[in-house]
Amino acid sequence: MMRRWIVVMIVALGVIAGYAIRPYCPLTRPSTQPNPPAAGGQETKPVEPTAPPVDAAPTIQVANLSDGEVVGYPLLVISGRATGKPSKVTVTLPGQSRNWPAAESFYRAMVQLNPGDNDIRLTAPNHPDTAIRIRYSPAQNTRRLRLLYVLSSDGDGSFQAPPGEPCDQVSAVRRIATAGRMQQTAIAELLHNAGQPRKSFCLECNPDGSVDVGIVQLPLTTRQLHTMAGLQIWLELYQYLQKTDPAFSDRKYLAFLSMTQFDSGTRKVIAHTALGGGNLALYGSGNLHTWPQSLDEIVSRFSDVRVVSDFGLYDDSALRGTFWANCATGLGASLHELGHVFGMVHSGQSTDLMERGFDHINHLFMPVEGNQPIPSSVLQLAASNVQALSDNPWIVGPSVP
Ligand SMILES: [Zn+2]
Repeated sequence: MMRRWIVVMIVALGVIAGYAIRPYCPLTRPSTQPNPPAAGGQETKPVEPTAPPVDAAPTIQVANLSDGEVVGYPLLVISGRATGKPSKVTVTLPGQSRNWPAAESFYRAMVQLNPGDNDIRLTAPNHPDTAIRIRYSPAQNTRRLRLLYVLSSDGDGSFQAPPGEPCDQVSAVRRIATAGRMQQTAIAELLHNAGQPRKSFCLECNPDGSVDVGIVQLPLTTRQLHTMAGLQIWLELYQYLQKTDPAFSDRKYLAFLSMTQFDSGTRKVIAHTALGGGNLALYGSGNLHTWPQSLDEIVSRFSDVRVVSDFGLYDDSALRGTFWANCATGLGASLHELGHVFGMVHSGQSTDLMERGFDHINHLFMPVEGNQPIPSSVLQLAASNVQALSDNPWIVGPSVP
Protein backbone atom coordinates (compact mmCIF):
# COMPACT_ATOMS: atom_id res chain seq x y z
CA MET A 1 0.00 0.00 0.00
CA MET A 2 2.81 2.35 1.04
CA ARG A 3 4.65 1.50 -2.18
CA ARG A 4 1.51 2.32 -4.20
CA TRP A 5 1.24 5.73 -2.55
CA ILE A 6 4.90 6.46 -3.29
CA VAL A 7 4.32 5.68 -6.98
CA VAL A 8 1.18 7.86 -7.03
CA MET A 9 3.10 10.72 -5.38
CA ILE A 10 5.97 10.50 -7.86
CA VAL A 11 3.58 10.55 -10.83
CA ALA A 12 1.66 13.44 -9.24
CA LEU A 13 4.88 15.41 -8.74
CA GLY A 14 5.72 14.88 -12.40
CA VAL A 15 2.29 16.08 -13.45
CA ILE A 16 2.48 19.10 -11.12
CA ALA A 17 5.88 19.98 -12.56
CA GLY A 18 4.19 19.88 -15.97
CA TYR A 19 6.80 17.65 -17.49
CA ALA A 20 6.34 14.55 -19.60
CA ILE A 21 8.80 11.95 -18.36
CA ARG A 22 9.54 9.16 -20.77
CA PRO A 23 11.77 6.22 -19.98
CA TYR A 24 13.60 5.36 -23.16
CA CYS A 25 12.14 2.86 -25.52
CA PRO A 26 9.73 0.66 -23.59
CA LEU A 27 8.07 0.01 -26.97
CA THR A 28 10.99 -1.49 -28.84
CA ARG A 29 13.05 -4.59 -28.19
CA PRO A 30 16.83 -4.47 -28.50
CA SER A 31 18.06 -6.42 -31.49
CA THR A 32 21.33 -8.26 -32.00
CA GLN A 33 21.61 -7.09 -35.61
CA PRO A 34 21.48 -3.57 -37.04
CA ASN A 35 18.02 -2.85 -38.40
CA PRO A 36 18.04 -2.40 -42.18
CA PRO A 37 16.45 0.86 -43.29
CA ALA A 38 12.87 0.23 -44.43
CA ALA A 39 11.82 1.40 -47.87
CA GLY A 40 9.56 4.41 -48.38
CA GLY A 41 7.32 5.85 -45.68
CA GLN A 42 8.92 8.30 -43.26
CA GLU A 43 12.49 7.13 -43.86
CA THR A 44 15.15 9.71 -44.66
CA LYS A 45 17.76 8.64 -47.17
CA PRO A 46 21.43 8.43 -46.08
CA VAL A 47 24.08 10.01 -48.26
CA GLU A 48 26.03 7.22 -49.97
CA PRO A 49 29.36 7.71 -51.67
CA THR A 50 29.24 6.83 -55.35
CA ALA A 51 31.15 3.77 -56.58
CA PRO A 52 34.34 4.51 -58.55
CA PRO A 53 34.78 3.25 -62.13
CA VAL A 54 36.68 -0.06 -62.39
CA ASP A 55 40.47 0.31 -62.98
CA ALA A 56 40.44 4.04 -62.17
CA ALA A 57 43.58 5.36 -60.41
CA PRO A 58 43.02 5.27 -56.65
CA THR A 59 41.72 8.47 -55.10
CA ILE A 60 40.51 9.67 -51.71
CA GLN A 61 37.02 11.10 -52.16
CA VAL A 62 35.15 13.19 -49.60
CA ALA A 63 31.43 12.38 -49.79
CA ASN A 64 29.80 14.29 -46.94
CA LEU A 65 31.42 17.74 -47.28
CA SER A 66 32.12 20.27 -50.03
CA ASP A 67 35.29 22.32 -50.32
CA GLY A 68 34.75 25.70 -48.63
CA GLU A 69 31.84 24.48 -46.50
CA VAL A 70 31.13 26.27 -43.21
CA VAL A 71 30.19 24.48 -39.95
CA GLY A 72 29.28 25.83 -36.51
CA TYR A 73 30.81 23.14 -34.25
CA PRO A 74 34.44 22.05 -33.74
CA LEU A 75 34.47 18.23 -34.09
CA LEU A 76 34.17 17.44 -37.79
CA VAL A 77 33.36 14.05 -39.33
CA ILE A 78 34.77 13.42 -42.80
CA SER A 79 33.55 10.37 -44.71
CA GLY A 80 33.85 8.93 -48.18
CA ARG A 81 35.86 6.41 -50.18
CA ALA A 82 39.55 5.70 -50.65
CA THR A 83 39.20 3.68 -53.81
CA GLY A 84 42.48 1.74 -53.55
CA LYS A 85 41.11 0.06 -50.39
CA PRO A 86 43.81 1.14 -47.91
CA SER A 87 43.50 -0.04 -44.29
CA LYS A 88 43.72 3.52 -42.99
CA VAL A 89 43.39 7.16 -43.95
CA THR A 90 45.51 9.81 -42.22
CA VAL A 91 43.97 13.21 -41.54
CA THR A 92 46.23 16.15 -40.82
CA LEU A 93 45.79 19.77 -39.84
CA PRO A 94 48.73 21.87 -38.63
CA GLY A 95 49.40 20.57 -35.09
CA GLN A 96 47.38 17.33 -35.37
CA SER A 97 47.59 14.11 -37.33
CA ARG A 98 45.53 10.96 -36.73
CA ASN A 99 45.01 7.63 -38.45
CA TRP A 100 41.44 6.45 -39.05
CA PRO A 101 40.41 2.98 -40.18
CA ALA A 102 39.14 2.22 -43.67
CA ALA A 103 37.11 -0.90 -44.50
CA GLU A 104 36.69 -2.09 -48.07
CA SER A 105 36.94 1.37 -49.62
CA PHE A 106 35.00 3.25 -46.93
CA TYR A 107 36.57 5.56 -44.38
CA ARG A 108 35.32 7.88 -41.67
CA ALA A 109 37.60 10.28 -39.86
CA MET A 110 37.41 13.15 -37.39
CA VAL A 111 39.34 16.32 -36.87
CA GLN A 112 39.27 19.09 -34.27
CA LEU A 113 38.68 22.36 -36.15
CA ASN A 114 40.14 25.74 -35.25
CA PRO A 115 38.00 28.87 -35.68
CA GLY A 116 38.43 30.20 -39.25
CA ASP A 117 39.65 28.28 -42.28
CA ASN A 118 40.99 24.75 -41.80
CA ASP A 119 43.07 23.26 -44.60
CA ILE A 120 42.63 19.53 -44.02
CA ARG A 121 44.79 16.97 -45.79
CA LEU A 122 43.82 13.32 -46.25
CA THR A 123 46.49 10.79 -47.16
CA ALA A 124 46.66 7.02 -47.66
CA PRO A 125 49.38 4.71 -49.03
CA ASN A 126 49.41 4.66 -52.86
CA HIS A 127 46.80 7.42 -53.08
CA PRO A 128 47.45 11.03 -54.10
CA ASP A 129 46.73 13.44 -51.24
CA THR A 130 43.31 15.08 -51.05
CA ALA A 131 42.82 18.53 -49.56
CA ILE A 132 39.64 20.16 -48.36
CA ARG A 133 39.09 23.58 -46.76
CA ILE A 134 36.41 23.78 -44.07
CA ARG A 135 35.58 27.00 -42.24
CA TYR A 136 34.64 26.76 -38.57
CA SER A 137 32.42 29.71 -37.64
CA PRO A 138 31.37 28.90 -34.03
CA ALA A 139 27.58 28.87 -33.61
CA GLN A 140 26.28 31.68 -31.40
CA ASN A 141 23.29 31.02 -29.18
CA THR A 142 22.35 32.32 -25.74
CA ARG A 143 20.70 28.90 -25.20
CA ARG A 144 23.39 26.45 -24.13
CA LEU A 145 23.22 22.85 -23.00
CA ARG A 146 24.82 22.26 -19.59
CA LEU A 147 26.56 18.92 -19.02
CA LEU A 148 26.55 17.65 -15.42
CA TYR A 149 28.25 14.91 -13.43
CA VAL A 150 26.17 14.00 -10.38
CA LEU A 151 27.72 12.81 -7.09
CA SER A 152 26.16 11.62 -3.85
CA SER A 153 26.89 13.59 -0.63
CA ASP A 154 29.54 11.04 0.35
CA GLY A 155 30.72 10.15 -3.17
CA ASP A 156 34.24 10.81 -4.49
CA GLY A 157 33.20 10.98 -8.17
CA SER A 158 34.60 7.59 -9.14
CA PHE A 159 32.56 5.21 -11.33
CA GLN A 160 32.54 1.44 -11.92
CA ALA A 161 35.22 0.22 -14.34
CA PRO A 162 37.47 -2.79 -15.05
CA PRO A 163 40.93 -3.01 -13.41
CA GLY A 164 43.43 -0.58 -14.92
CA GLU A 165 40.80 1.71 -16.47
CA PRO A 166 40.86 5.34 -15.25
CA CYS A 167 37.63 5.79 -13.26
CA ASP A 168 38.01 8.90 -11.12
CA GLN A 169 36.09 12.16 -11.40
CA VAL A 170 38.70 13.66 -13.75
CA SER A 171 38.28 10.76 -16.17
CA ALA A 172 34.46 10.99 -15.93
CA VAL A 173 34.56 14.68 -16.81
CA ARG A 174 36.83 13.98 -19.81
CA ARG A 175 34.49 11.23 -21.07
CA ILE A 176 31.35 13.36 -20.65
CA ALA A 177 32.96 16.36 -22.38
CA THR A 178 34.08 14.18 -25.31
CA ALA A 179 30.62 12.59 -25.52
CA GLY A 180 29.01 16.05 -25.58
CA ARG A 181 31.13 17.04 -28.58
CA MET A 182 30.41 13.74 -30.39
CA GLN A 183 26.68 14.08 -29.73
CA GLN A 184 26.74 17.68 -30.96
CA THR A 185 28.39 16.47 -34.18
CA ALA A 186 25.96 13.51 -34.43
CA ILE A 187 22.92 15.82 -34.49
CA ALA A 188 24.48 17.96 -37.24
CA GLU A 189 25.45 14.89 -39.29
CA LEU A 190 22.01 13.29 -38.89
CA LEU A 191 20.36 16.50 -40.10
CA HIS A 192 22.77 16.61 -43.06
CA ASN A 193 21.98 12.97 -43.92
CA ALA A 194 18.29 13.97 -43.92
CA GLY A 195 19.00 16.68 -46.50
CA GLN A 196 19.02 19.58 -44.02
CA PRO A 197 21.69 22.18 -43.18
CA ARG A 198 24.13 21.09 -40.44
CA LYS A 199 22.86 22.54 -37.15
CA SER A 200 23.20 21.46 -33.54
CA PHE A 201 22.98 22.53 -29.89
CA CYS A 202 25.59 24.77 -28.24
CA LEU A 203 27.46 23.55 -25.16
CA GLU A 204 28.45 25.58 -22.11
CA CYS A 205 32.20 26.00 -22.38
CA ASN A 206 35.15 27.26 -20.35
CA PRO A 207 36.96 30.47 -21.44
CA ASP A 208 39.59 28.33 -23.25
CA GLY A 209 36.85 26.74 -25.41
CA SER A 210 36.87 23.36 -23.64
CA VAL A 211 33.49 21.90 -22.65
CA ASP A 212 32.45 22.83 -19.11
CA VAL A 213 31.11 19.82 -17.18
CA GLY A 214 29.44 20.97 -13.94
CA ILE A 215 29.74 18.88 -10.77
CA VAL A 216 26.56 18.49 -8.72
CA GLN A 217 26.72 16.96 -5.23
CA LEU A 218 23.22 15.88 -4.21
CA PRO A 219 22.27 16.06 -0.50
CA LEU A 220 21.69 12.29 -0.49
CA THR A 221 24.12 9.52 0.42
CA THR A 222 25.17 6.75 -1.96
CA ARG A 223 23.23 4.34 0.23
CA GLN A 224 20.05 6.44 -0.07
CA LEU A 225 20.42 6.82 -3.84
CA HIS A 226 20.95 3.07 -4.22
CA THR A 227 17.48 2.46 -2.74
CA MET A 228 15.76 4.86 -5.18
CA ALA A 229 14.17 4.17 -8.56
CA GLY A 230 15.47 6.08 -11.59
CA LEU A 231 12.41 8.31 -11.71
CA GLN A 232 12.88 9.26 -8.03
CA ILE A 233 16.51 10.21 -8.68
CA TRP A 234 15.43 12.22 -11.74
CA LEU A 235 12.92 14.14 -9.58
CA GLU A 236 15.45 14.70 -6.77
CA LEU A 237 17.98 16.11 -9.24
CA TYR A 238 15.35 18.20 -11.02
CA GLN A 239 14.19 19.77 -7.75
CA TYR A 240 17.76 20.28 -6.54
CA LEU A 241 18.71 22.13 -9.75
CA GLN A 242 15.50 24.18 -9.58
CA LYS A 243 16.43 25.26 -6.03
CA THR A 244 20.14 25.89 -6.50
CA ASP A 245 20.61 27.12 -10.09
CA PRO A 246 19.36 30.71 -10.60
CA ALA A 247 19.43 30.13 -14.39
CA PHE A 248 17.37 26.91 -14.11
CA SER A 249 14.43 28.04 -16.23
CA ASP A 250 16.71 29.17 -19.09
CA ARG A 251 18.81 26.01 -19.17
CA LYS A 252 18.68 22.47 -20.47
CA TYR A 253 20.80 19.76 -18.84
CA LEU A 254 22.31 16.41 -19.76
CA ALA A 255 23.37 14.74 -16.48
CA PHE A 256 25.24 11.53 -15.65
CA LEU A 257 25.06 9.65 -12.33
CA SER A 258 28.40 8.64 -10.79
CA MET A 259 26.98 6.18 -8.23
CA THR A 260 25.53 3.61 -10.68
CA GLN A 261 26.46 0.15 -9.38
CA PHE A 262 26.16 -3.30 -10.96
CA ASP A 263 26.24 -6.41 -8.76
CA SER A 264 27.50 -9.32 -10.86
CA GLY A 265 26.17 -11.76 -8.23
CA THR A 266 22.55 -10.62 -8.28
CA ARG A 267 22.82 -9.27 -11.90
CA LYS A 268 21.10 -6.10 -10.70
CA VAL A 269 22.09 -2.56 -11.52
CA ILE A 270 21.17 0.27 -9.15
CA ALA A 271 21.09 4.04 -9.62
CA HIS A 272 21.14 3.47 -13.37
CA THR A 273 18.50 5.11 -15.49
CA ALA A 274 17.77 6.65 -18.88
CA LEU A 275 15.16 9.39 -18.64
CA GLY A 276 14.53 12.59 -20.53
CA GLY A 277 11.79 15.16 -20.10
CA GLY A 278 11.26 18.83 -19.25
CA ASN A 279 14.71 20.40 -19.37
CA LEU A 280 16.62 17.45 -17.86
CA ALA A 281 18.03 14.29 -19.45
CA LEU A 282 19.60 11.79 -17.05
CA TYR A 283 21.74 8.70 -17.68
CA GLY A 284 23.63 6.28 -15.42
CA SER A 285 27.37 5.56 -15.56
CA GLY A 286 27.04 1.77 -16.02
CA ASN A 287 29.01 1.82 -19.28
CA LEU A 288 30.90 5.11 -18.89
CA HIS A 289 34.16 3.13 -18.65
CA THR A 290 33.77 2.16 -22.35
CA TRP A 291 33.55 5.80 -23.54
CA PRO A 292 36.48 7.74 -25.07
CA GLN A 293 38.28 10.25 -22.85
CA SER A 294 39.34 12.26 -25.89
CA LEU A 295 39.27 12.38 -29.69
CA ASP A 296 42.40 10.22 -29.68
CA GLU A 297 40.51 7.30 -28.09
CA ILE A 298 37.46 7.16 -30.38
CA VAL A 299 38.81 4.49 -32.73
CA SER A 300 40.13 2.21 -29.97
CA ARG A 301 36.89 2.44 -27.95
CA PHE A 302 34.69 1.68 -30.95
CA SER A 303 37.00 -1.24 -31.87
CA ASP A 304 37.17 -2.85 -28.41
CA VAL A 305 35.82 -6.40 -28.80
CA ARG A 306 36.29 -7.43 -25.15
CA VAL A 307 33.08 -8.71 -23.52
CA VAL A 308 31.76 -6.63 -20.62
CA SER A 309 30.28 -9.58 -18.70
CA ASP A 310 33.76 -11.20 -18.54
CA PHE A 311 34.65 -8.37 -16.17
CA GLY A 312 31.49 -8.64 -14.03
CA LEU A 313 30.29 -5.27 -15.34
CA TYR A 314 26.91 -4.00 -16.51
CA ASP A 315 26.02 -4.92 -20.09
CA ASP A 316 23.75 -2.32 -21.70
CA SER A 317 24.43 -2.95 -25.39
CA ALA A 318 21.22 -4.30 -26.99
CA LEU A 319 22.45 -7.85 -26.32
CA ARG A 320 25.71 -7.39 -28.26
CA GLY A 321 27.90 -7.64 -25.15
CA THR A 322 31.15 -6.00 -26.27
CA PHE A 323 32.85 -2.87 -24.97
CA TRP A 324 32.35 -1.10 -28.33
CA ALA A 325 28.61 -1.91 -28.32
CA ASN A 326 28.25 -0.61 -24.76
CA CYS A 327 30.01 2.56 -25.86
CA ALA A 328 27.61 2.92 -28.81
CA THR A 329 24.47 2.25 -26.75
CA GLY A 330 25.62 4.58 -23.94
CA LEU A 331 26.42 7.52 -26.23
CA GLY A 332 23.30 6.88 -28.31
CA ALA A 333 20.86 6.32 -25.42
CA SER A 334 21.95 9.47 -23.59
CA LEU A 335 21.57 11.44 -26.85
CA HIS A 336 18.10 9.86 -27.24
CA GLU A 337 17.16 11.19 -23.76
CA LEU A 338 18.51 14.61 -24.72
CA GLY A 339 16.34 14.33 -27.85
CA HIS A 340 13.25 14.26 -25.58
CA VAL A 341 14.49 17.47 -23.92
CA PHE A 342 14.62 19.03 -27.39
CA GLY A 343 11.04 17.95 -28.12
CA MET A 344 11.74 14.83 -30.16
CA VAL A 345 9.40 11.87 -29.70
CA HIS A 346 9.32 8.12 -30.31
CA SER A 347 8.56 7.85 -34.01
CA GLY A 348 7.90 4.14 -34.53
CA GLN A 349 10.67 4.08 -37.16
CA SER A 350 13.18 1.47 -36.01
CA THR A 351 16.25 3.26 -37.41
CA ASP A 352 15.40 6.57 -35.75
CA LEU A 353 17.51 8.08 -32.96
CA MET A 354 14.25 8.21 -30.99
CA GLU A 355 13.84 4.42 -31.30
CA ARG A 356 16.57 1.75 -31.06
CA GLY A 357 18.45 3.36 -33.95
CA PHE A 358 20.51 5.00 -31.19
CA ASP A 359 22.36 1.69 -30.61
CA HIS A 360 24.18 2.40 -33.90
CA ILE A 361 25.58 5.88 -33.22
CA ASN A 362 29.05 4.39 -33.93
CA HIS A 363 28.03 4.28 -37.62
CA LEU A 364 28.39 8.05 -37.76
CA PHE A 365 32.03 7.87 -36.63
CA MET A 366 33.41 4.50 -37.79
CA PRO A 367 33.49 2.70 -41.20
CA VAL A 368 33.52 -0.75 -39.62
CA GLU A 369 31.69 -2.72 -36.94
CA GLY A 370 33.39 -5.98 -36.02
CA ASN A 371 34.43 -7.26 -39.46
CA GLN A 372 31.54 -5.65 -41.31
CA PRO A 373 32.09 -2.46 -43.36
CA ILE A 374 29.45 0.20 -42.82
CA PRO A 375 28.89 2.00 -46.15
CA SER A 376 26.17 4.22 -44.65
CA SER A 377 24.72 4.74 -41.20
CA VAL A 378 21.76 2.64 -40.08
CA LEU A 379 21.01 5.40 -37.56
CA GLN A 380 18.77 8.13 -39.01
CA LEU A 381 16.26 10.74 -37.96
CA ALA A 382 12.57 10.19 -38.69
CA ALA A 383 11.03 13.03 -40.71
CA SER A 384 8.98 14.17 -37.68
CA ASN A 385 12.14 14.49 -35.59
CA VAL A 386 14.01 16.30 -38.38
CA GLN A 387 11.17 18.81 -38.21
CA ALA A 388 11.38 19.01 -34.39
CA LEU A 389 15.08 19.96 -34.64
CA SER A 390 14.70 22.28 -37.64
CA ASP A 391 12.12 24.39 -35.80
CA ASN A 392 14.03 24.42 -32.49
CA PRO A 393 15.66 27.67 -31.29
CA TRP A 394 18.24 25.60 -29.34
CA ILE A 395 19.52 24.06 -32.59
CA VAL A 396 21.55 26.49 -34.71
CA GLY A 397 24.02 26.64 -37.58
CA PRO A 398 27.29 28.57 -38.00
CA SER A 399 27.22 32.23 -36.92
CA VAL A 400 28.41 33.36 -40.39
CA PRO A 401 27.08 30.84 -42.97
ZN1 LIG B 1 12.57 7.77 -25.42
